[in-house]
Amino acid sequence: MEREVRTRYEPSPTGYMHIGNLRTALYEYLIARKYGGKFILRIEDTDQERYVEGAVDVIYKTLKMAGITHDEGPDIGGEYGPYIQSERKHIYIEYAKKLVEMGEAYYCFCTKERLAKLKEEQEAAGSDSQKYDRHCLGLSKEEIKRNLENDVPYVIRQKMPDTGTTSFEDAVYGTITVENSQLDDQILIKSDGLPTYNFANVIDDHLMKITHVVRGNEYLSSTPKYNLLYKAFGWEIPTYIHVPLILKASGQKLSKRAGDPSFEDLVSMGYLVEAIINYVVLLGWSPGDNREIFSLKELESIFDINGINKAPAIFDMNKLNWFNGEYISKLSEDEFHEIAKPYYEGAIKNGSIDLKKVSRLLQPRTEVLTSIPANVDFFDSLPEYDRELYVHKKMKTTKEIALNSLNEALPVLEQITEWNEQNIHDSLFKLIEKLAIKNSQMLWPIRTAITGKAVSPGGAIEIADILGKDETLSRIKIGIEKLKNNG
Ligand code: GLU
Repeated sequence: MEREVRTRYEPSPTGYMHIGNLRTALYEYLIARKYGGKFILRIEDTDQERYVEGAVDVIYKTLKMAGITHDEGPDIGGEYGPYIQSERKHIYIEYAKKLVEMGEAYYCFCTKERLAKLKEEQEAAGSDSQKYDRHCLGLSKEEIKRNLENDVPYVIRQKMPDTGTTSFEDAVYGTITVENSQLDDQILIKSDGLPTYNFANVIDDHLMKITHVVRGNEYLSSTPKYNLLYKAFGWEIPTYIHVPLILKASGQKLSKRAGDPSFEDLVSMGYLVEAIINYVVLLGWSPGDNREIFSLKELESIFDINGINKAPAIFDMNKLNWFNGEYISKLSEDEFHEIAKPYYEGAIKNGSIDLKKVSRLLQPRTEVLTSIPANVDFFDSLPEYDRELYVHKKMKTTKEIALNSLNEALPVLEQITEWNEQNIHDSLFKLIEKLAIKNSQMLWPIRTAITGKAVSPGGAIEIADILGKDETLSRIKIGIEKLKNNG
């Protein structure tokens, strides 16, 4: 019988969700959904030195924010709990002791000082291997018993084979083979009684019946050691899916510690969750055609392990901006207005500005919400600007043409009794026809005069409508003065 597909996300409680974690969680989740299986959340908190207060709650919060729902986990329970590794201490000890009995692991009582000295000597001798020298493998049964009775601190190490090779199939990287003689007798149980990741992942993946393991390719070289543990216990090895590194454009590893944004940072920077998810799923996976826009729901059926690449993925903010713009443009007017509103506060204090109209202008032109304040502040007050702004080659406009257009437009606009887009449009186009000038020679100067900016969301007519008649006329007069005064 086919095993039920079970995947797991195993974050360490660091206090944030790294982009790499989000991708791993997504892939695990998508594999489970695609095959109608289960997605399990397990907390890897066996490193007490890295303990961060409140960090487990951050894990629940960020998963919820991303819309990635787990079927089993510490907060919702399940058949295979507990799902927090520090609560499973007794289980790991029990299995480690079994390995000792089988001769696959051994107690090691070496002090920190001895290990440090060993390392120093190995370095001094120019040895490229930093393996443990198996000092404690030769201890007699009596010595071990005496040490344990005397509470001498110990770790339990895995005993690696001296000869031969270990191979495994990775779904992404293919066949990986290592010489067993290269493998270090890694620690399984630390002196504080807690397991290392290297041990806990194997025990838990087996006991929780995990079928597919997705994780960063930094674990690729340790996986043969894990497989030797599976073999020792006679357990079935899961499907391994190691995923490539995520790099910055500079070639460095994307890292929260180096100041790169986490998932929740991106959300507070004004990125839409759907856009982030869509972008992140493509960091190392492609659907095999040119489609780029996918909802999480669609991905649940489309995602395919065969589409995962081994080449490092590049995290490109510009590309993320593009995705965000795509998702923003798909929102309804009301939805966009709701998410844009907080960004108007502080930038537009003038209560007579119709913010809904501003939203209509902005929506097709916005990639990142945080760019909004700087794009709309001119509605509140005309910024200082240089009259050279009126000069625009493509618009066929010079300062002289601009001055003439503004002078002509002023009385025409003054005559409009009902100030709306249609009437402003009709008046200006009648005037353009009468003057026999290009549209741009009228619209560019007005746009410049009423925004004071080289770039603005929308053109002269839409912006004049929002500003209102008085403000538009007063800004045009300022423009005329500016153009007149300095020759
Ligand atoms: N806590 C590990 C990490 O975040 C888990 C690796 C795994 O998924 O097995 O890298």
